[in-house]
Amino acid sequence: MKLEVVTIGTELLLGQILDTNAVDLGRELAAAGVEIVRRTSVADRPEMIRAVVAEALDRTGFVITTGGLGPTRDDMTKKEVAAIFNKPLVLNAVVLQSLEERFRRLGRTMPAVNRTQAEVPAGATVLPNPRGTAPGLWVEADGRVVVMLPGVPSEMRGLLAEEVFPRLVVRGGTAGIVVRSRTIRTTGIAESALAERVGEIEDEIAPLTLAYLPSVDGVDLRVTAWRLREADAERRLGTAAAQLRERAGEHVYGEEKTDLAAAILDLLRARTVRLAVAESCTGGLLGARITAVPGSSDVFVGGVVAYDDKVKRELLGVSQTLLERHGAVSEEVVSAMVAGAQQRFGVDAALAVTGIAGPGGGTKEKPVGTVWLAARSGQETRVVKRVFPGDRAEVRARSAQAVLDLLRRLIGKISS
Ligand code: AMP
Ligand code: MG
Repeated sequence: MKLEVVTIGTELLLGQILDTNAVDLGRELAAAGVEIVRRTSVADRPEMIRAVVAEALDRTGFVITTGGLGPTRDDMTKKEVAAIFNKPLVLNAVVLQSLEERFRRLGRTMPAVNRTQAEVPAGATVLPNPRGTAPGLWVEADGRVVVMLPGVPSEMRGLLAEEVFPRLVVRGGTAGIVVRSRTIRTTGIAESALAERVGEIEDEIAPLTLAYLPSVDGVDLRVTAWRLREADAERRLGTAAAQLRERAGEHVYGEEKTDLAAAILDLLRARTVRLAVAESCTGGLLGARITAVPGSSDVFVGGVVAYDDKVKRELLGVSQTLLERHGAVSEEVVSAMVAGAQQRFGVDAALAVTGIAGPGGGTKEKPVGTVWLAARSGQETRVVKRVFPGDRAEVRARSAQAVLDLLRRLIGKISS
């Protein structure tokens, strides 16, 4: 099978960023036996995008684009591709709902401009993008296909592995032949460190392929069997998943769509332990993660959003001396917060978070992204400092996930 790739973005042409999407697409598609016959980069200019994609489509009949799917004025890929196919843009209720849901989860209200991200060319297949706001789109008519993927490299790679490849392979479909994947979820370890631990497993698991999929929740290891008989695919996937679990070791918290908050609640429920939280920079996000899990009420008692120092003092019993001597974002204060929450709520297990989510408030000693996390179970406390990358929403989301993981490690007697 043959196709053309069009990477869209003025910044690519100005040399402001490297076209890593082109590199990733080239490597991944080649490994899957798909040939890229031509690649083009184009600026964020509507008439150029339309002309380049239309020409590529006339030549090859199958085009993958990246970029220009965001909510701002310079994101116009959808509109131009819709015009090539003579289709209007229509509001997609499912996409709109998942966008609103995503903003709610990150504790932000959705700006009106994001509504445009829920518009899709009529009849397009929506490719869900759990790592970002812009879904991918698959538009097909009269045997001609344009697949639009977002520009953000990690989102692009995720959609390619999870949504595009399975569909590409099915196009050459044969009865009894399947494409199947298994996902091993890890957290608390960086992609490069995980890759080092997993090692050169690709040769051993071949013809299965392995993708590393990072997000704010951690790094998913996704292993895929391409075009194999079902029983063979399942057997090989089982073996590969077991090998991956073993190598990733204590960093694994589940498979497929396991949510870490749900996994923690199960752990605590099995021990008949109840949980409370004290949150500063996550401002309720942690409590929201926990209460999003059905049935959390038998484990989760409640929490304090201790944003102002006054609340840390009066509701959690953090002493003024500690706050003055070490600052609110410190090992001493997070330890006092977690002990305070445990005592105040009369529970066995507690979590606490205090940090600098940015964009302001950072210093040389405590840059934006600095977060102190604490987990307490019985008489044992674990405290760690992390410096997270990303914007405010990302730092907050990463903090919530990391503190849940800290409790998982504490209970499991796993090093942090
Ligand atoms: P867009 O979807 O065009 O709004 O792009 C979103 C983000 O992804 C921007 O920060 C771009 O700089 C980045 N990006 C877009 N296209 C590429 C590409 N081909 N390679 C690497 N990064 C990209
Ligand atoms: Mg762009």
